[in-house]
Amino acid sequence: MTVLPIRIYGDPVLRQVAGETPLDDWVRRLAADMIETMYDAPGRGLAAPQVGEPLRLFVMDCHWKDGVAKAPQVFINPSFVERSDDQAVNEEGCLSIPGVPVDVSRPASVIMRWTNLEGAAQERSFEGFEAVCVQHETDHLDGTLNVDLASEADKIRLAPQLEVLAG
Ligand code: ZN
Repeated sequence: MTVLPIRIYGDPVLRQVAGETPLDDWVRRLAADMIETMYDAPGRGLAAPQVGEPLRLFVMDCHWKDGVAKAPQVFINPSFVERSDDQAVNEEGCLSIPGVPVDVSRPASVIMRWTNLEGAAQERSFEGFEAVCVQHETDHLDGTLNVDLASEADKIRLAPQLEVLAG
């Protein structure tokens, strides 16, 4: 497995709408490399556009940094079945926007459908930090970044840092 370079804010691939992901050996290897890259970063989630591949695929392990055993999950072609009306605000970091955590309001719980690495259809509800994670990563597949969802005041406050990142 290989640690891949992570694309940083300002890279146009982060703004692309990613395409459907085929399930083949190349994608399986990409997912394995993305898991390795996520742990190396270290992070809790990583979407394919963040390693320069405009595909609908992300990997996630929300809790390994809290000292529990690693349990990486791979989400291929994810979509939301349901998103709750009630919202929750959480501070989100992004490996593509290092050093710029931002408060984001999102649905507090979601039901998501996706395909796993074995090609099996999956459906599950997510709450708490996992709900934040799956929404943050799915946004990456549509070219949306957490800073886009910041309050107007935070957008103004963060603009100079983002300008530096974008070079
Ligand atoms: Zn991110």
